[in-house]
Amino acid sequence: MFDDVRTIVAELHGELTRHGLVAWTSGNVSARVPGEDLLVIKPSGVRYSDLTADAMVVCDLHGGVVEGEWSPSSDTAAHAYVYRHMPEIGGIVHTHSPYASAWAACGEPIPCVLTAMADEFGGEIPVGPFALIGGDDIGRGVVATLRGSRSPAVLMRNHGVFAIGRTPAAAVKAAVMCEDVARTTHLARQLGTPRPIPGEDVHRLHDRYRRAYGQPPA
Ligand SMILES: [Zn+2]
Repeated sequence: MFDDVRTIVAELHGELTRHGLVAWTSGNVSARVPGEDLLVIKPSGVRYSDLTADAMVVCDLHGGVVEGEWSPSSDTAAHAYVYRHMPEIGGIVHTHSPYASAWAACGEPIPCVLTAMADEFGGEIPVGPFALIGGDDIGRGVVATLRGSRSPAVLMRNHGVFAIGRTPAAAVKAAVMCEDVARTTHLARQLGTPRPIPGEDVHRLHDRYRRAYGQPPA
């Protein structure tokens, strides 16, 4: 019944390793099961090479296992909290990708200094609160930070990235782009002082990108 969603989530984990966003078994992708109060997420502590569709775990939106051989990711409570409180969200990604996590370690938002950032994030990438793993604290911090932001990614303080999207693929894209701009902005700082894009131009870029980027509908 959940085969399609399991397959999508398993394949998207391959993007995390392909783009260098994860080390060993860290990081995870989840997807909401369309029309159900369920999510599909990576099992805990299983190596990326073993993440087949069958290995994915189906949970309810409080993190209880509904179907699956393995225990779900230790971040399942955070994912479940976000799905419960942001009904428009269909996918969530969590990584400790190195450049973005370096900004998180400093507790500093990534300033909007690149047109690609204005396009994808509509402004700076914000910092969320420090929160311990396990309960609702991480999810609460993610929702509180992203609800009032155009950014689909948040740097959780001293931790790493949570990225959201209407689809799980969109959430993975946001996680990849977050690491990309974190790296470039870091490099810019080594050369000099990155210059923020004026707010009005950020708004124009973001608006144009949302409406006009990509292929026209068939
Ligand atoms: Zn983590």
